[in-house]
Amino acid sequence: MDILLYDNWERKLRPFQPLRQDWAGLYCCGPTVYDYAHIGNLRTYLFEDVLRRTLEFNGHQVRHVVNITDVGHLVSDADDGEDKMEKGSRKAGESAWDIAERFTVAFKQDMRSLNMLEPHIWCKATDHIAEQIDFIRVIEEKGYTYITGDGVYFDTSRQDNYGYLARLNLEGQEAGKRVALGDKRNATDFALWKFSPAGETRQMEWDSPWGRGFPGWHIECSAMSAKYLEPWFDIHCGGEDHIPIHHTNEIAQTEACYGTRLANFWMHGYFLQIDAGKMSKSSGDFLRLQTLADRRVDPLAYRYLCLTAHYRSQLNFSWEALTAAQTALQRLRDTYLSWTGNAAAEADPRFVERFHAEINNDLNLPRALAVMWELLKAELPPQVKKATVDRFDAVLGLDLQHWQPVQEDIPAGIQALADRRKAARDSKNWAEADALRKELRELGYEVEDTAAGMTIKPV
Ligand code: AMP
Ligand code: ZN
Repeated sequence: MDILLYDNWERKLRPFQPLRQDWAGLYCCGPTVYDYAHIGNLRTYLFEDVLRRTLEFNGHQVRHVVNITDVGHLVSDADDGEDKMEKGSRKAGESAWDIAERFTVAFKQDMRSLNMLEPHIWCKATDHIAEQIDFIRVIEEKGYTYITGDGVYFDTSRQDNYGYLARLNLEGQEAGKRVALGDKRNATDFALWKFSPAGETRQMEWDSPWGRGFPGWHIECSAMSAKYLEPWFDIHCGGEDHIPIHHTNEIAQTEACYGTRLANFWMHGYFLQIDAGKMSKSSGDFLRLQTLADRRVDPLAYRYLCLTAHYRSQLNFSWEALTAAQTALQRLRDTYLSWTGNAAAEADPRFVERFHAEINNDLNLPRALAVMWELLKAELPPQVKKATVDRFDAVLGLDLQHWQPVQEDIPAGIQALADRRKAARDSKNWAEADALRKELRELGYEVEDTAAGMTIKPV
């Protein structure tokens, strides 16, 4: 069955075929780690997770790369203003290196809480300074750069098709000249390397052939995707805001360096809105996954909510919608848990095919969820339903197999130990499962595994 994906380069649905036999390259622009991720950011990573799962459902081996932006992303898209990391460092009273580490750990924890698959490769901008310098050198030799008082810039007028991804109207921009040019030749030119301000020592700065400083934001993605995938790979993703600037500039750099436009497919997740405005990190007023947990919302209810909207439509966040998602997820879990019995069964092929057709239609998850709810009501043996939902969950990622009803009277620490024991048991790690059972017993609790799941009782 073909997988149709919406490619923003061509602005249409195209059948996906991997460029290579052995793997399909997927590069997703990762977080700028000067603060926690907000749930809008996480919506974009959820879309990318579902994309990867869909490719895998279709039998493709995916090589999934996510970068960590820990230097060079400036407060203003016009390449001036402070580095977000240095600003975050001042705000937190910690070094830029420390906040990068702290928010990277927090981001990975959020991904786990949302049951996202771990990327195969994580890459940090600050670990790839040499690659970025080499990249800039090559495009400098090819004549695409010029130097101003504050950095090395890319001359976008050297490319006839600059801005095609975003269908930028360059003539309009030039005529209007509303953008402050500074020393730049064209409004759309962007920094490849910025010099450290005179008389100032930055926390993050390196020597380069052009002077001491730090890389511009876009260059890290061109350099690291070429290193870990190829200069021309399968799918590049990010949020919709990346279309006119960040991805446009990544394409310009890679085209100048290698003569390719980076990725075969360009896919973008649309924004999570709150009160009809976009949620942004810089506003300082945003919802984190932890904010939801503080209100006793299961992170997977947020995952469910995101599945109810197509990734190419904006989603307006409301607490009512989140509560409805939590209720629906709970109904699904309860039903799944009620399908007891050990008889092995095969998934129902007709339902699997219908689900498959929906996800292959540009990740139509709202329709795929509807197929699942129909299955729940169908006249089929419970074990067949369970086997079928297990197939669906490989894409939905709701982790139904591991869910356990929370027993209110059990302390959270005991519940956590029991959950760890169950996970160890499910992965056949008997030694660890036994050790955790013993630990629980010493704390005065007995766990039992029944057909309906696990129970915890004080002894
Ligand atoms: P950042 O950490 O700011 O570099 O952003 C990380 C990712 O989140 C990028 O792919 C952005 O495009 C995306 N993003 C930012 N704001 C939102 C939002 N409100 N809804 C969905 N995605 C977003
Ligand atoms: Zn990027």
